[in-house]
Amino acid sequence: MDNLAIIYDEKFLLHAPQFYHPENPQRITSILNLLKEKSFLNDVQIMRPALAPDEYILSAHSGEHLSLVRDSIFEGKNFIDSGDTYVVNDSWIAALLSAGSGLTAVDLVADKKAKNVFCLIRPPGHHAGVSTPMGFCLFNNIAIAAQYALQKYKLNRIAIVDWDVHHGNGTQEIFYDTEKVYYISLHQYPFYPGTGSEEERGAGKGFGYTLNFPLPPRTDGKKYLQLFDQYILTELKNFKPQMILISAGFDAHAKDPLADMKLDENDFALMTIKLNEFADKNNIAIISFLEGGYDLNALAKSVFEHLKILKQ
Ligand SMILES: [Zn+2]
Repeated sequence: MDNLAIIYDEKFLLHAPQFYHPENPQRITSILNLLKEKSFLNDVQIMRPALAPDEYILSAHSGEHLSLVRDSIFEGKNFIDSGDTYVVNDSWIAALLSAGSGLTAVDLVADKKAKNVFCLIRPPGHHAGVSTPMGFCLFNNIAIAAQYALQKYKLNRIAIVDWDVHHGNGTQEIFYDTEKVYYISLHQYPFYPGTGSEEERGAGKGFGYTLNFPLPPRTDGKKYLQLFDQYILTELKNFKPQMILISAGFDAHAKDPLADMKLDENDFALMTIKLNEFADKNNIAIISFLEGGYDLNALAKSVFEHLKILKQ
């Protein structure tokens, strides 16, 4: 069994804006270039993702959501929402492969072909809610993967740790009333998309299975690591997840143009170490999904540090 597999398809590059937009194909090519330069890919298997079948997209999204995304793309619209989530004709294949990546990743860890998996994907996913594509996200890739693991492999407890600088409102919404998925997010607050207060703890059976750490601008990596030590690792220990999924955005990096946090690439390595040690100790897998991160250089360096740990 390999320690790390990477899921990637060059069709992710086809989802390309016809104007300047921070969520663009260069994000992925800058990561790949650095990984090649560091010879990181010499002994890591790169797998192509499956296309997500409707059945699993519909486990996280409404039929209206699926139709809205499909119709907007094939009707030739430029934006799918009120203005920040662009689409082009090839966005459809990119979105299906991005959503399918988590399915391939879950199969790989279930078949013991990889201990950890990184989904090097776009469009990102964590803002896409039950019926709302938004925030550069068409389908909620990580939520679809979690639903797949719950349904196909009958898992009962999946932890999602979301350290993208923005609150993953979509993921929170999709799992708000279930005790099977524990959603934990650290994010700048108040900030886009507006959700993610401490009071949002889940509902019904899901009460206590949503945990938000809203953080002020200029929060540094030391604070993030303290929160892992003081709260998050204890929560994970009590929850006993059978799998950890990470919404790995790297836009909390100090150099990121879209946010105001103060992390550096080493902080992403240190957070990964904490989760990886927990996963090793409990003999469970980590599947990490690329979300945000908009300074190309900071993004590539941060992903490289993240992957070095996941490969150990
Ligand atoms: Zn983000």
